[in-house]
Amino acid sequence: SPLTSRRDKPRILAVANQKGGVGKTTTAINLGTALAAVGERVLIIDLDPQGNASTGLGLGRAERKVTTYDVLLDGASLESAECVTAVPRLSIAPAGQDLAGAEIELIEVENRHYCLDKAIKDFAKARPDITYIMIDCPPSLSLLTINAMAAADAVVIPLQCEFFALEGLSQILRTIDKVKQRINTRLELQGIILTMYDGRNNLSQQVEADVREHMGDKVYRTAIPRNVRISEAPSHGKPALLYDLKCAGSQAYIKLASEVIQRERAA
Ligand code: ADP
Ligand code: MG
Repeated sequence: SPLTSRRDKPRILAVANQKGGVGKTTTAINLGTALAAVGERVLIIDLDPQGNASTGLGLGRAERKVTTYDVLLDGASLESAECVTAVPRLSIAPAGQDLAGAEIELIEVENRHYCLDKAIKDFAKARPDITYIMIDCPPSLSLLTINAMAAADAVVIPLQCEFFALEGLSQILRTIDKVKQRINTRLELQGIILTMYDGRNNLSQQVEADVREHMGDKVYRTAIPRNVRISEAPSHGKPALLYDLKCAGSQAYIKLASEVIQRERAA
């Protein structure tokens, strides 16, 4: 289809923010689903020990035979971890609780920044049909997130419009710069997503104005509204787009996906 990307390599996006609860996992799942819906072939890599992306896509603990821990630290291939989901063209490499120990175990590993990068390069050779890989990062800027940034073409930052948002933003931007200088020269900022946005709230509006002033076009035009259907969907093991396609949150993620695709085509 002319809609889908034709490249020899998948585009690799890390969904990152050191703060928890800002919408990283929700974005990985729903942006991934929206990309799959327009014909992209998407793999989500769950790099958070909490495993919320895996649970949110309906994968129980017992179904997670090979996990991202095994990929990072035991030489398992990403293909062997890959699980299908209820969404056509969307698969996931799940996380298990053992990933919590990976942070510390990685310190001892030679090439510790590049464990995920190597696994993805092997995966891309074996699976040339995959057009997007989305990495759901943990709420820290530790070795797991550095592994994601080392492997990625670009970072997508979900940002909640609250009081300390800009301080948190400058911290992750500094980390992206450092990774770009020392570990992965092709790393870019794809964009900043305003999440759980409430247009009636003055603080939301003020923070939005500040972020747009500082970051300009790096902020996607589409903001994701705070929407109860989005928060209900994971407990049904489904992306919001399958749970309630018509809700404002799902519609926003569909719009966001078209902005992401436009930027990826320009890249
Ligand atoms: P993170 O991965 O950054 O920790 P999550 O994506 O898990 O954040 O989101 C944190 C919580 O907020 C979850 O309970 C999620 O369902 C909820 N949430 C995320 N985005 C929205 C939204 N747009 N509207 C309402 N609730 C949301
Ligand atoms: Mg998360």
